[in-house]
Amino acid sequence: VPAIELAGVEKTYGRTAAVRGVDLAVAPGEFFSLLGPSGCGKTTVLRMVAGLEEPSAGEVRLDGRGVNGIPAERRDVNMVFQSYALFPHMSVFDNVAFGLRRRGAGRAEVRARVGEMLEMVDLAGRERRRPVELSGGQQQRVALARALVNRPRALLLDEPLGALDLRLRQAMQDELKRLQRDVGVTFVYVTHDQGEALTMSDRMAVMNEGRVEQVGTPRDVYERP
Ligand code: ADP
Ligand code: ADP
Repeated sequence: VPAIELAGVEKTYGRTAAVRGVDLAVAPGEFFSLLGPSGCGKTTVLRMVAGLEEPSAGEVRLDGRGVNGIPAERRDVNMVFQSYALFPHMSVFDNVAFGLRRRGAGRAEVRARVGEMLEMVDLAGRERRRPVELSGGQQQRVALARALVNRPRALLLDEPLGALDLRLRQAMQDELKRLQRDVGVTFVYVTHDQGEALTMSDRMAVMNEGRVEQVGTPRDVYERP
């Protein structure tokens, strides 16, 4: 059973057809990228996989079950948005701790897990800062830590490394691949960066105007004449 499956999925907003009949299957533990020009429907696909939007037609399934029938707190899929909306009134620590506390984690666990996550994204020592006091790249890393802290089975990332400098981008790429390898997280990764998609992905889909035009391994996609 695929971890994530789209079957005949369409999404229209008024007269805009954002997604026009997409079929995709992402295997458990796979690193799957979505590529394509701005406006081709990548974010809309992610939002439907996260259950934030309902398809106008077709179905999205997680482990074989229709996503819109699974209660939000049990979907076990976290999404990091392009505009990494942090809670502005909360400290870095509280932003990252949010999902753990909502699940009733105890203080010791919260402290340990948040510490581990902030270490991972190179923000140890910034626990008390507010989002406005951080650079864009730092905020982006808080958003990643917040999405990872619950150890979700699947992570949906919408251009998550765009605001990072080269060194941090490389470090975060390594960290995401480590999570795939060691923890078995399934990734759907939206990027404009072909080099990034090439090095990170097991498979990728190239979208254009709401449709998937190519799908396969990076070799399949880049070596096709
Ligand atoms: P991108 O760089 O992915 O093209 P956009 O700025 O187009 O980002 O879209 C960001 C978000 O704004 C989308 O995920 C979508 O939910 C929303 N959005 C995009 N276009 C419209 C629109 N025409 N009307 C309302 N909301 C929109
Ligand atoms: P991408 O992520 O590939 O840039 P999007 O999924 O954000 O593309 O958008 C696909 C199309 O749907 C665009 O034409 C966008 O303007 C439109 N769109 C996205 N979200 C909305 C929305 N909430 N309302 C109206 N139009 C939208």
